[in-house]
Amino acid sequence: MSTPDVVIVGGGIGGLSTALALSRIGLKVRVLEQAKEFGEVGAGIQLAPNCTRILDDYGLLEEAKARGVVPDSMVMRDAIDGSDLTSLDLRDLERKYGFPYLVIHRSDLHGLFLEACRDAGVELRTEQRVTAYAQDAGRATATTEAGTVHEAAVVLAADGLHSVARKLFVDDQPVSSAYVAYRGTVPVVQAGRPVDLSEVVVYVGPRCHFVHYGLRGGGLLNQVAVFESPKALAGLEDWGTPDELDTAFAGTCDAVQQGLPHMWRDKWWRMYDRDPITTWVDGRIALLGDAAHPPLQYMAQGAIMAIEDGWVLAEHIKRLRRGDGAVDWAGALAAYEAVRPEHCRRVVLTARAWGELWHLDGVEREQRNILLRAREAGDYAFTDWIYGPAALFPEDEPAMFEPIPLQSADRLAQRLRRANAEDEDQG
Ligand SMILES: Cc1cc2nc3c(=O)[nH]c(=O)nc-3n(C[C@H](O)[C@H](O)[C@H](O)COP(=O)(O)OP(=O)(O)OC[C@H]3O[C@@H](n4cnc5c(N)ncnc54)[C@H](O)[C@@H]3O)c2cc1C
Repeated sequence: MSTPDVVIVGGGIGGLSTALALSRIGLKVRVLEQAKEFGEVGAGIQLAPNCTRILDDYGLLEEAKARGVVPDSMVMRDAIDGSDLTSLDLRDLERKYGFPYLVIHRSDLHGLFLEACRDAGVELRTEQRVTAYAQDAGRATATTEAGTVHEAAVVLAADGLHSVARKLFVDDQPVSSAYVAYRGTVPVVQAGRPVDLSEVVVYVGPRCHFVHYGLRGGGLLNQVAVFESPKALAGLEDWGTPDELDTAFAGTCDAVQQGLPHMWRDKWWRMYDRDPITTWVDGRIALLGDAAHPPLQYMAQGAIMAIEDGWVLAEHIKRLRRGDGAVDWAGALAAYEAVRPEHCRRVVLTARAWGELWHLDGVEREQRNILLRAREAGDYAFTDWIYGPAALFPEDEPAMFEPIPLQSADRLAQRLRRANAEDEDQG
């Protein structure tokens, strides 16, 4: 094969979606994946309108919808008493942002990108574990542990949470949240209870939460159970084990209890993120996806941010390509780095705060519940900054929402009590 324009290290959702974005604009792309085969482990993934808009641009949205489920609503309930806290009307959300909210098996999404990459002529190589990077004025290289040197104008490192390339930029480590996720998929007919698959449901509870939604046209139920591990907090190595799962969810409502037997108990995911960094580009080498900005999953934006990264970079390359087809790489990478780190920093930090809010206990749990119940159904203040189109320039990045202090729930509760008393007096 001739020298590619771009070498992408890592064939996860970030690497493959970026390979597709770049090959669609006529670049020669090679993807290097360390595994024997391209694939994804895990279960479902949620794709908000800021992602389905990009799938639509790539011509993949209809197929993604066919492989997944387009739910009608997203409901948040209290994990202890099972009561409704707040909800999003996802059909209204689709009207507002122009694209649907979609849930899909991650292997189906990954497979969709893989097929599209093959069709687009991306060169896909497996068993290529990259251990070293180098560059000079005119090219960059990624070298595998077997000693093969892959050369291109630009190397993009999409090598995930434990990125080798990230070490070129910062000497940091993944940050443990002490939370662990169990996942499980089960055919809906074997779920042992009626489940309404028109809803994406999250039950939030003290130091735990439980999510379920449908996959594969509604034939499959996806469940995620997440909890804080006491063993992790105690500094023990062996943390997140199934006995901790059972203890963490012991006080939860029937709907959650009925889901727990269907979790896979032989594999679990410890939840890490990293502190945000603002430098992702060094000459002809750049970070992308979890390698640049691994989040905790509470905003369901990790894979989406990776897909946005590739889309934004491709848009800048298109914009900065000269008449003879030569790319202004320095300009395109600088434009990418001018806009993406700040967006992803906001998401990574908001995801941490969102997780804290979900997992509150005691008085703070009650305050949170009062505030969530008071939210107007059509209030999109908390989604506007994230579900619109990915910004191409810093000035297009939408303003963040104003956080609501938990203590304001006390005033709200007083007002509600007074209003109820007045109603009773008048009645
Ligand atoms: C429980 C859970 C739920 C989640 N839910 C959502 C959700 O609903 N929506 C959402 O958008 N995100 C979600 N995420 C986050 C999302 O899964 C990740 O952010 C996303 O998959 C990151 O993609 P990536 O391609 O950047 O990295 P990865 O998926 O980690 O891919 C990296 C790839 O690089 C390869 N690789 C690594 N090192 C090398 C090397 N040295 N050489 C060659 N290849 C290498 C790996 O084998 C892998 O294939 C969730 C995460 C978790 C844990």
